[in-house]
Amino acid sequence: MILASLSIGAYVGIGIAALVVVFFVALIIRTATYRKDKTPQRLVIDEDVSQEAAATHLQEAIRFSTVSMVDEYKDNSAPFLAFRQWMFDTYPLFTSQASLTVIAGYSLIFHLKGTDPTLKGACFLSHQDVVPAPTDGWTHDPFGGELAEDGYIYGRGALDMKCHLVSVLEALEYHLAHGTVFKRDIYVCFGHDEEPGQSFEGAPNIVKHLKAQGVEMEYVLDEGGTGIEGKTLFAEGLVAMVGAAEKGNGDLEIVVHGTGGHASSPRFPSANGRLADVIKKIEKHYMPTHITPLSRKTFLALAPHTNPLFKFFMVNSDVFSPLFRFILGKASSVTNALIRTTLAPTMLWGPDARNVLPREVKLNVNYRTLTGDTAEDVRRHLEKLLHRYIKKGIVSIHMLGYSDPSAVADVDSAAYNVLAKSIRQTFPDVSVVPYTMVGATDSRFYYPLTQNVYRFGPFVWGFDDESRVHGLDERIRPEQMGRAVQFFVNLMRNSCAE
Ligand SMILES: [Zn+2]
Repeated sequence: MILASLSIGAYVGIGIAALVVVFFVALIIRTATYRKDKTPQRLVIDEDVSQEAAATHLQEAIRFSTVSMVDEYKDNSAPFLAFRQWMFDTYPLFTSQASLTVIAGYSLIFHLKGTDPTLKGACFLSHQDVVPAPTDGWTHDPFGGELAEDGYIYGRGALDMKCHLVSVLEALEYHLAHGTVFKRDIYVCFGHDEEPGQSFEGAPNIVKHLKAQGVEMEYVLDEGGTGIEGKTLFAEGLVAMVGAAEKGNGDLEIVVHGTGGHASSPRFPSANGRLADVIKKIEKHYMPTHITPLSRKTFLALAPHTNPLFKFFMVNSDVFSPLFRFILGKASSVTNALIRTTLAPTMLWGPDARNVLPREVKLNVNYRTLTGDTAEDVRRHLEKLLHRYIKKGIVSIHMLGYSDPSAVADVDSAAYNVLAKSIRQTFPDVSVVPYTMVGATDSRFYYPLTQNVYRFGPFVWGFDDESRVHGLDERIRPEQMGRAVQFFVNLMRNSCAE
């Protein structure tokens, strides 16, 4: 009897072990045979796309100090009008053949009619405005557009995003000079108030205007993702990150109370001490992780280009979700932001006097919600984290402005495939990876015109470029301009030409 039950147990054990082995073998085979990338594209380079012209035109564009018209720059309209005139002078073929509608005084819709009115339009976005650039700390005049000895063009907007705006116009002028006939209508929409993040007269009204005209787009392309060194994501070669959605973005204020008093006879815990504890809690306890349908696609696109271990987890992220999310959460701040809503304590307010213990201090928390999460989820997370303080009336949470995560663009569409093909035709050995952007762009307003809203700037960003955007010494290499124009030439040829 004992023998029999033992042998049944052994059989069950062997059976389970065999199943586990089969399961893992299946996963390994699934990993080994996974090749998502489409057949590699032959590079398509037009010898007469002029890097020099594109670079020179970018230098000129930088010299218009189109700082967003808010706060002390609210009367800064002259550079915008001059910049518009420059577009007419510099791109005579395009600007004479396209019609121009001006929205809210400074935003521009150029419309170039195609030959087939049954086709939906192609829409190229850029914003004309830039953030302020006080000369202090720059090694070159931020509005000088100088090509410096180190081979970079310096200036505000060199990366964000006059490089992109100029490349779109260069490519259109190139095609028209070469007699390209466009079958599809082309819309070039240049907003004027993207940077301040709150005025939004441009993009929403551009979309309202187009919607009222019954315009539909095949796709919309804005800034956003760029080419990055694959190693940032544990991948090989160059990775072209195409933004297919944007995280939500909001602020909240946490007010912390204390007894206050004179610094000469301090009583603890003070409001400052409690605030330090609040910040520590926020930095230590993250929101839960999720793998959204889009992040699953990010991992599947990245998988063939990463190391075998990551590939195994990426391909099988549906099976190993909890473990994989744990690894990503720890791997880097970039991978962590891909899979969860993040909270960042940003600003602090306390007393003005050096010898006073405050009765009240405040903290601003900027948060970015992942698709599926809401501002309410963030509030609940904080309430749970700080419930002891809240119960005693020591801490209160005040929700400020918030915008939801954008809709998610279709990355299985024909439009996406043409975009990906055009990227592969322009950049050698590149993998194209769709993802959720952590920043915000004008493109989130454009979903009423199409599901195919993509964010990709055809530029390769180095490690410190991120900090130069909105920072000091924003700069770009002229070679980048030549290649960006080539990308738009390819994309327009692939998606718009007859
Ligand atoms: Zn921008």
